[in-house]
Amino acid sequence: MSINLAFDREHIWHPYTSMISPLPVYPVVAANGCELELENGQRLVDGTASWWSAVHGYNHPLLNAAVSNQLHKMAHVMFGGITHEPAIRLCQQILAMVPGNLTKVFLADSGSIAVEVAIKMALQYWQASAQSTKTKLVSLRKGYHGDTFAAMAVCDPLDSMHSMFSELLPQHFFLPAPDCPFHASFNPDVMLPLAQLLEAEHQQIAALILEPIVQGYGGMRFYHPEYLRRARALCDQYQVLLIADEIATGFGRTGKLFACEHAAIAPDILCLGKALSGGYMTLAATLCTDEVARGISLSAAGGLMHGPTFMANPLACAVASASLALIASGTWQQQVTAIEQQLTEQLAPCQQLAKVKAVRVLGAIGVLEMHEQVDVAKLQAAFVERGVWIRPFNNLIYVMPPFIITAAQLTKLTQAMFEVCR
Ligand SMILES: *Cc1c(COP(=O)(O)O)cnc(C)c1O
Repeated sequence: MSINLAFDREHIWHPYTSMISPLPVYPVVAANGCELELENGQRLVDGTASWWSAVHGYNHPLLNAAVSNQLHKMAHVMFGGITHEPAIRLCQQILAMVPGNLTKVFLADSGSIAVEVAIKMALQYWQASAQSTKTKLVSLRKGYHGDTFAAMAVCDPLDSMHSMFSELLPQHFFLPAPDCPFHASFNPDVMLPLAQLLEAEHQQIAALILEPIVQGYGGMRFYHPEYLRRARALCDQYQVLLIADEIATGFGRTGKLFACEHAAIAPDILCLGKALSGGYMTLAATLCTDEVARGISLSAAGGLMHGPTFMANPLACAVASASLALIASGTWQQQVTAIEQQLTEQLAPCQQLAKVKAVRVLGAIGVLEMHEQVDVAKLQAAFVERGVWIRPFNNLIYVMPPFIITAAQLTKLTQAMFEVCR
């Protein structure tokens, strides 16, 4: 039976699309390793890892086994008043990996919810203290933290959906996007806006939220670790919590296990998602320190006021646990280093193309920033024609492939990027 594209087009929303004139969708029937298989039998080398998540590739035998073993024990059970081995094991693994003294884990059901929980943690923490005036957040322009309302309120206020709902959203403070590229020398003046804001308004400010090192959907920008290190120091100086949103960067993507490690800092609150479950199921986590957890427990509510129905879903925990065991084996390190070297070499020629404004590579992320917005439907078709799956947006054509990609597959991606931009 063939996939009913007419029904899809008529009745099913896809991310960020119109229901009246939706962008085309490609019917995928299977995915293996680093390849997606279309209904017509064509195989595409995947340059997206399904939005940063499928780091070990698709249809992985160990991840499959983890799901199916757990499935035969229990698919789900509520987490209120109940606990289970998959959740406990996963949280032990997470805590053994993360930087700093993060000790408490909240298992959430998506990245956006992990951000909601992080914000709630920060606000509840200060509610209980003598500093109950701390109710605002600071965020960076070009930041992206998710699509739910509290998360939208800390996304870039001009470039995101934020602008459509601005009257409904809590008003927070925004700083200029860090103007200090990862590979350039660091100009300390970039810290002035944060330093001045904290100096003037710290009594109102509960937390600074940022994506460490890589600003993802807000522009695929890589900023200098020194910015992050100094931001941490300023937060300490002015008693402001630091929330690191590592939903995209966590688990090796930037060349370090966590992007915070580039600056050798740790946040007070950490959000994880995307690659956490190896791309198998929706799962995210919000971590905090003993200190933050203690503060929340002293708040009027007496506890953290969040508890999704599918919290700590055992299937998701089991597959995440298997995924983190693969990460813990350390193979990702050589894989990401090799991907970084190859992307650096093979994307460099794109710099000469008239349409390309900048080429950037960090870890297993390769970005072509174009001078102008791209025609997504047209480019996507051109990529599929060349046997690759790459999904551009705005003026960005970028790849963040599964770590298991072979050198030949990666060459196919970079060649297609070069050809399509020419
Ligand atoms: C994807 C992403 C989110 C949102 O995660 P969802 O699982 O899509 O809700 C939040 N923050 C960052 C940095 C992300 O990349």
